[in-house]
Amino acid sequence: MAEEVYPNIHKLTIPLPKNPLKALNAYLIKGNKRHLLIDTGFNRPECLAAMEKELAELGIEKDSFDLFITHLHGDHSGLAGSLVFENTKVLTGQYCADSLTKKSTGAKNRFYDFVIQSGLADMGLTPEDSSIHPGVRYAAQKIEQAQVIKDGDPIKVGDFELLCVETIGHTPGHMCLYEPHHQLLFSGDHILGKITPNIAIWGNPWTIDQDYLGEYLKSLDKVGRLKVKLVLPGHRHLVRDLHQRISELKAHHHFRLEDMLEKLKDEKLTGAQVASRMKWDLSYSSWDKFPPAQKFFATGEALSHLTHLVFSGLLKKELDQEVVYYARR
Ligand SMILES: [Zn+2]
Ligand SMILES: [Zn+2]
Repeated sequence: MAEEVYPNIHKLTIPLPKNPLKALNAYLIKGNKRHLLIDTGFNRPECLAAMEKELAELGIEKDSFDLFITHLHGDHSGLAGSLVFENTKVLTGQYCADSLTKKSTGAKNRFYDFVIQSGLADMGLTPEDSSIHPGVRYAAQKIEQAQVIKDGDPIKVGDFELLCVETIGHTPGHMCLYEPHHQLLFSGDHILGKITPNIAIWGNPWTIDQDYLGEYLKSLDKVGRLKVKLVLPGHRHLVRDLHQRISELKAHHHFRLEDMLEKLKDEKLTGAQVASRMKWDLSYSSWDKFPPAQKFFATGEALSHLTHLVFSGLLKKELDQEVVYYARR
């Protein structure tokens, strides 16, 4: 049964089968005429069944709510197609709107280049097999149209006067929702308790032209300037001390950056090699035991840090037979 975590705000727990995140927190904000549902769960029957059960238990009828999608990841946007009825508005940022409404995203081509350039192909990943990419595997059903929201846009639901807060980093165009009177922040995957949001690169190691980790750190400062009593994240438990959590997340990334500079002291390495030497909070005994999807995520995380260090002028990168190597300047 959905838990009322704040008057008129219900947390719906949507299980994510075979996924280390375990479950998604969707939130239903009760309004007068229409309600707002924040995020959905994967495009899988187990997620849809859980969502329909939770909504029914709350007495929420079909087509009585609009959807707010924080970002394009399948655990947040996957069921959008199944929850859209005649009057449903799907509110989301531009990048996510494009991916939900366009027929082809080019994810397969990007995957191929990423696996080669990151050095993952040298570690046994097959660049042609994009099926391990969750963006390909659990791609959301396409929807006809979405209403693109921008930073600062207001959304009124019942007594709640929500504001969209663009928080680039975890994905391009990630959106949080802030309620200044009640001091609530629906944080999607920008701020999580316990777990650290994955920061990757959205492009290929050689041609990437945006510093996503740098953007993420700026977006942490951005929400750090808001008055917040309660953070309602996309996974795990609610967060009561936003500033404390921001400090922890920043410390985590700064530690990783230092650690990488140390690892690159005497040699040049690929993104995958750096990832294989980092410490991961996973239960596998060694890098070789990581399933391909976890190697892919870990390498993306390593590359967001390496790219940040290139943007900061501390590292340089070079291309050797299609593989990108990083070295100290
Ligand atoms: Zn996410
Ligand atoms: Zn998520």
